[in-house]
Amino acid sequence: MKIGILSLQGAVSEHELCIKRLNLEPIPIKEKSDLDNLKGLIMPGGESTTLRNLLKNTGLWKKINQINIPIMGTCAGAILMGNSNEESLEKIDIGINRNYYGRQKDSFQKEIDIKDNGKFNGIFIRAPAITNIGENVEPIAWEGNKIVGCIQEKHMALTFHPELTDDLKFHEMWVEKLS
Ligand code: GLN
Repeated sequence: MKIGILSLQGAVSEHELCIKRLNLEPIPIKEKSDLDNLKGLIMPGGESTTLRNLLKNTGLWKKINQINIPIMGTCAGAILMGNSNEESLEKIDIGINRNYYGRQKDSFQKEIDIKDNGKFNGIFIRAPAITNIGENVEPIAWEGNKIVGCIQEKHMALTFHPELTDDLKFHEMWVEKLS
């Protein structure tokens, strides 16, 4: 199964490794034609403004908007999927605020709660916050009372970085929806 990894900027190689560890085939996505024949697309963290500009310059923005490809977005990737004050791909019905916790130095690691009572090492790097979710959105991860991960149909948005841990739970959870 081929999984595209948006390879313009940010935590690309870490997601590639996760996909390989699941015995799937990561495909680097740099231009429009790379999007053909994929089961899903990962949009890694990085810097959302830079990613948006690069996506637009390559024509990927328009094509991703047009096709209904399942997307897993982490951090900046999640910002581009949700509704923020800036232009979005609007793939998932969540409100999301950039740089919610402050500056880069305010980045942190914290154990988070996940669906079905699991725990996970949440790595938050100048992370956004999910401020509200639509009725068709299922929350799947919490930091205290705050929702930090959710699913809508085949899309998953996470404000933290699972690819920086050894734990493949979130990648597995998303991939299970793709087949
Ligand atoms: N702060 C970044 C932004 O607003 C996101 C950080 C990240 O992806 N780790 O785009």
